[in-house]
Amino acid sequence: MSALQERIAEVERRIAAACERSGRARSDVNVIAVTKYVSAEATEQVLQAGLADIGENRWQDAQEKWERLGSQGTWHFIGHLQTNKVKEVVGRFAYIHSLDRLSLAKEIDKKAAQLGLEAKCFIQLNVSGEETKYGLPPEQLPDFAQQLKAYPHIRIVGLMTMAPFEAEAEATRPVFRGLRELRDGLNRSGVLGYEVPGLSMGMSNDFEVAIEEGATWVRLGSILVGK
Ligand SMILES: *Cc1c(COP(=O)(O)O)cnc(C)c1O
Repeated sequence: MSALQERIAEVERRIAAACERSGRARSDVNVIAVTKYVSAEATEQVLQAGLADIGENRWQDAQEKWERLGSQGTWHFIGHLQTNKVKEVVGRFAYIHSLDRLSLAKEIDKKAAQLGLEAKCFIQLNVSGEETKYGLPPEQLPDFAQQLKAYPHIRIVGLMTMAPFEAEAEATRPVFRGLRELRDGLNRSGVLGYEVPGLSMGMSNDFEVAIEEGATWVRLGSILVGK
């Protein structure tokens, strides 16, 4: 086995164990291979190894990889999205995980309308309240969701968060539980008029806790793809 195949097998074993512990089906958890640290060649190996979902966090770094490999796999934009990059990202990336302000929603909607598509987005929330993190403050979610109705070319598919780095992964649990409760509350409120299924949460350091708390997409860079 190559080093990459070994990492995939090890991550797969840990995902399966976390699903088992929490009584979840393995098929409910999707893996995004975050390739932001590696070259286009290494990204191609990731795709060839059978990982179909690729995550990048800056268009400037992703462009070369997307131009070579964009037709293979499904691309996820996971980083902070500047409004002036929206025209590059919508139509190329199937999912945007970082919708956190109405000015961004407006641009995404405009570009999606031009292309005649529905842009699938996760609303990014700052659950931990860390000052340095992007994301909508949780208390603003109901209003934000209400205002998104003005943008019919956006489809909300889930909520996303990043937990602060913790030496003990267990310490991230309240953040992930908080995101799940926000999603459940959003669905109960019926504001969007449709069910939001997804939770994009969990990275190399804390994905098992995120899965135990309901993650449907984990975003794995260093542990899976390498640096
Ligand atoms: C880099 C990044 C990841 C992956 O980080 P690792 O800790 O290397 O797994 C996940 N999500 C976002 C938003 C990132 O920027």
